Amino acid sequence: MPAAPFPADELDRLQALLDYEVLDTEAEQSFDDLTNLASHLCDTSIALVSLIDTTRQWFKAKAGLEACETGRDIAFCAHAILQRDIFEIPDAKADPRFAENPLVTGPPFIRYYAGAPLVTPQGYAIGTLCVIDTRPKSLLRSQKEGLQILARAVVSQLELRKSLDRQAKLSQFKMDFFSNMSHELRTPLNAILALSQLMQEQIVGASPNLDQLFQNLKTIEFSGERLLNQINNVLDISKLEAGKMRLVERDFDFRTTFTHVYDMLAPQAKAKQLDYRLHIDHALPPFLYMDEDKAIQILTNLLSNAVKFTLPGKQVSTYIQKKDDWLEIMVRDQGIGIAPDYQKRLFHRFEQVAEQKGGTGLGLAICKSLAELMGGEIFVTSEQGKGSLFKVRLPFNEGKCPLIDQNPLLTLKTDLDILLVEDNAINQDVARAVLENEGLTVKIAPDGEQAIALAAKQPWSMVLMDRHLPDMDGIEVSRKIKALCPDLPIVMWSADQHVQHHPSTKDAGIADYLNKPLDKNALIRALNKYGK
Ligand code: ADP
Repeated sequence: MPAAPFPADELDRLQALLDYEVLDTEAEQSFDDLTNLASHLCDTSIALVSLIDTTRQWFKAKAGLEACETGRDIAFCAHAILQRDIFEIPDAKADPRFAENPLVTGPPFIRYYAGAPLVTPQGYAIGTLCVIDTRPKSLLRSQKEGLQILARAVVSQLELRKSLDRQAKLSQFKMDFFSNMSHELRTPLNAILALSQLMQEQIVGASPNLDQLFQNLKTIEFSGERLLNQINNVLDISKLEAGKMRLVERDFDFRTTFTHVYDMLAPQAKAKQLDYRLHIDHALPPFLYMDEDKAIQILTNLLSNAVKFTLPGKQVSTYIQKKDDWLEIMVRDQGIGIAPDYQKRLFHRFEQVAEQKGGTGLGLAICKSLAELMGGEIFVTSEQGKGSLFKVRLPFNEGKCPLIDQNPLLTLKTDLDILLVEDNAINQDVARAVLENEGLTVKIAPDGEQAIALAAKQPWSMVLMDRHLPDMDGIEVSRKIKALCPDLPIVMWSADQHVQHHPSTKDAGIADYLNKPLDKNALIRALNKYGK
């Protein structure tokens, strides 16, 4: 007896079936009800929801039959999925294709079969709703129509099940993500608040220990950086997903850059006594042309994971080389490794959160998106207990010697009068402290109206403009100031990383954008460049 051939779309069909995640699950009332109804409607002793897997048919619901599955090679339903109409065998013994079938000659002694294919919304027949009897018969047209309707109801039920499953998973992911994120934010915040309090007590107390105060400040700074890093991760993901992340390619001395990244993580590697190495192929040219910051971000992420997940005394090595038209960055560790199942989902945003301890699970998702944005790719091979190898390939473009920065030293021009437009008292204090510490004069305008009035009053060197002001949008204020003082440079500083892409900033005359929290070096660079 010949087995049914495979449908032309077999692989996609199987994937569609697997996507329902229904194989080998428990019986469910809704499918049982539809199956019983089919058996009553068609007046047959058996009815089944049969799903055609690689080598078997598996029954999600059954009425009048004990078996859970049979081989696909003898399944009537494997024939039924080859067409979209009902597949009917009025008398199996009289049909040369089925007369010798073990399901005909042995239990359940099939004589009559009719199967309505279960066709997914994408058009794949994943199985059938079928009715079977031990005597020859035929169905009325109305019964056939009814069977088709019930088959469609089975598919709707599968779709509903899939969507409920997805929602449940998503809300679980969200809960895990927010709980991990909250932990990641609370830990450094806790250090910042506790140490700040302690330092205040120590300063008020008799003899503050300066070394201890300095150490506490270092910890506060480190905790702040961790906080900022987590927040940047979330912003990066949203920027990447919105398609708003842009490449900024330039020539750079990658040996210095990558060695710097490697050095940055050296203290952690040293604390764990890792054998920590960096090999940069001598054959590589001195300069590359690519988005340096994104390459740094990828390597930092991979290296910090490798150091984090490698046990003391083991090895973490980074190799940088050219292979064909690619720059290959490989980070190999002798760490805990990653389970095969998990490897497939490692680069998905949030997906892995449920299984991991701590962390927010965004780092590798960002690496993958950044690598792809740069025209490259990222892979992992890993063995549990032995270690992992993360390999990034980026398009290889040899660069030229970069132009020397006009102001290579971050020392500030003096004699600058800054008009700081900022309503938030803490931000005012911080910016004033930083600027005055550099010997600059600062005047604060707490809202748009006062900013415009002050701007016209004296020749400022530069305006540092907040985005959200109580009375006006900072962009609008900038436009008005530019109308009054066309030569006055305005630099916007904002917590909104997307602000420069906002259509309203067009023609507002804003010279540059700085991110909050304030990075002193970025501010000094802007003051040097624009301050008059
Ligand atoms: P997170 O920022 O939370 O660490 P990542 O996306 O960078 O998120 O990593 C996600 C998870 O992948 C980690 O929590 C860890 O379980 C696993 N992982 C990443 N890199 C390695 C590695 N080198 N060795 C073992 N596990 C790793």
